[in-house]
Amino acid sequence: MGVREKLAARLMAGVVPSKSSGLLPVAPSAAVAVRPEPPKGASNYVILILDSCRFDSWIRAKPKVMSRLGEVEKRYSYATWTAPSHYNLLIGLLPHTSPPHVYASEYYKDDFLKFKERFRLPDMTFGAMVPSLWLPRYLQGIGYRTNMYVSMPVLNPETPINAGFDTFELLDRHNDVSQAFEKMRFYADRPSFFVINTGETHYPYATPDEPENHWPRISGVNGVFKHLDDHVLASTDAALRAGAVVRSEPFFDEAKMDLLHRRQVRAVEWVDRQVEMLFDLCPDNTYITITADHGELFGESGYFGHGPINHEKCVEVPFVEGRLR
Ligand SMILES: [Zn+2]
Repeated sequence: MGVREKLAARLMAGVVPSKSSGLLPVAPSAAVAVRPEPPKGASNYVILILDSCRFDSWIRAKPKVMSRLGEVEKRYSYATWTAPSHYNLLIGLLPHTSPPHVYASEYYKDDFLKFKERFRLPDMTFGAMVPSLWLPRYLQGIGYRTNMYVSMPVLNPETPINAGFDTFELLDRHNDVSQAFEKMRFYADRPSFFVINTGETHYPYATPDEPENHWPRISGVNGVFKHLDDHVLASTDAALRAGAVVRSEPFFDEAKMDLLHRRQVRAVEWVDRQVEMLFDLCPDNTYITITADHGELFGESGYFGHGPINHEKCVEVPFVEGRLR
């Protein structure tokens, strides 16, 4: 038995690996509300969202591990900010291909049916999503366990986006996706759906190995976001981490923007190495999609960040998916 098989066997048996202490026993089966037996052969499905990861940052990082899923595509996010973008993801609209000559409603129905392959549910129909149009509820209704781990406070568990999830958690650190991987549990009795939002690639593009006092600082933050964040992240420029756009001077020089862009590229490289852990812990019959919720501006046309920005770089995102085995 290889390392992967051993890990998968432990996870299915309710024992998970821990970086700090080897193996930790966990409850063998968390209770879920009464729900039907899942369809035979249905897949586990994981969506990993690298917050703010721009398509060209992915290309520059040349991620080896994540590329095992398939060839990366340039796709376009429906929104330029975290909250609306995740809402769209959960109604079953992953980043689009911008096809010409199609109506939005037709594209939605056609694109939605790609979930047949992701979930291995050949009988899945768009009609089953009507009227709620909410993927987690649909999945609970056919027997799935549903889980979401987020790193951005605008998606915190008090927000309505938590609807339809058995587990919904805001991670302690905004920039350490391994926290989510360590919490993931797969069970033999029913398939699991996971949505993971991680912020290594979000401003300030910091990985967990970098001390906070080394992070770049940008002043001039809009106050509304600061308040939103105060009770969630007690940190000086948490508002920017929540996705605020800098509105006041000082504005940015090219060298600083280039440095920030390079930091995002390095953050992709970091996440790529962490994803090895995800691939190891996923049992057979798991489909994985990796993408971003929106892009990021690094000084183009005078913009920095994302949110209230109308610029193509704010919607260009990487998209890769597949089944490992
Ligand atoms: Zn975001």
